[in-house]
Amino acid sequence: MILPARVKLCEVGLRDGLQNEPKILTVSEKLKLAESLIDAGFKVIELGSFMSPKAVPQMADTDELFKLLKSVKGVELRALVANKRGVERAIDCGCRKIKLNVSASKRHNLANINKTPRETVAGFNENVDLALKNGLEVSGSISMPFGSPWEGLIPVEDVEGIVEAYLGVGIKEISLSDAAGVATPKQVYDMCRSMQKKYPDVIWWLHFHNTRGMAMANILASMEAGIRNFDTALGGFGGCPFVPGAAGNVSSEDVVHMMDEMGIETGIDILKLIELSRNLQAILGHKGDSYIIKAGRSKDLFK
Ligand code: ZN
Repeated sequence: MILPARVKLCEVGLRDGLQNEPKILTVSEKLKLAESLIDAGFKVIELGSFMSPKAVPQMADTDELFKLLKSVKGVELRALVANKRGVERAIDCGCRKIKLNVSASKRHNLANINKTPRETVAGFNENVDLALKNGLEVSGSISMPFGSPWEGLIPVEDVEGIVEAYLGVGIKEISLSDAAGVATPKQVYDMCRSMQKKYPDVIWWLHFHNTRGMAMANILASMEAGIRNFDTALGGFGGCPFVPGAAGNVSSEDVVHMMDEMGIETGIDILKLIELSRNLQAILGHKGDSYIIKAGRSKDLFK
C-alpha cells in the first residue's frame, strides 16, 4: 500500500455540520469553536456560507464571524458562496477565500438553485471576476459526482465537463463532494486516478459524507490514488437538506485517529479534537457520528 507522509484536512463542521442543526449557535460560540480548531492544528477551516439568511438561518452570522477572525495568520478561512451577493458579502467582511458549488446531477442542481449545471457554471464567470478583482481566492466544488439519489450514477463525461467549465472560468482548485454518501472505494480510486491524469494542474479535494459507512474506505482509496486533501467535520455532525437520509461528513477525529495510527502526519492534536467534539455534542444536545467518541483511541487500550 502506498500512502502519503502527510495529508491536509479542512474542518467543515462550522458550515457543513452546523447548517443542518436545529439549534443555532451564537457567534461567540462559533468564534470559540473556530479558535479552538485553530489551536488544535487546523490550517484550513470552512467557517460558514453566504447564503440567504432565510434559507439557511444557521449561517446568517458568517460575516460577523469573519470580521472577528480575519487577523489569523497562516490559517485559510474559507466560505461557501452561491451567488454575486455572496461574493459581495465575502469581500465586505474580509473573507479571503470562497468556494462555489455546482451539482453534477441535473435534477439536484435544479432543485437547489433552479439551473442546470452548465447554466450554473456559465454564471460563475461574473462571480469569479468580482472575487479575483478584490484579491480573493476562488475554489470550486462538484457535488454528487459519484451518483445522485435522483439520477443514479453520473456519467464521468458529465463530471469532466464540469471540471473543464471550472478551468474555463479560471478555477483550478476543485473539490469532489459525495454529499449523498453513495461513492464506493473502487469508484473513488478510478475517478481520482483518471481526473489527476487528465487534469494534472488541478488541486483536488475530496469530501465524503458517511451516509453508508464508506467514507473512511473512500478516503483510503483516494490516498492510494494520490489525493492529499480532505474535508472532515468535528463529531461527524451534519447532513444535507436535499438528500434523503443524509448523514454528516466523516468525523474529523475518526480521520485524524486513522492517520495517526498509520503514521500519516495531519498536524492536528487528536486529544484536543476529542475534547472539542465532546463539547460540541454538549452544546448541540445530541450525539454526532464519531467512532472515536464512542470507543476512544485504540492506542489507549495498549497503555
Ligand atoms: Zn458536505
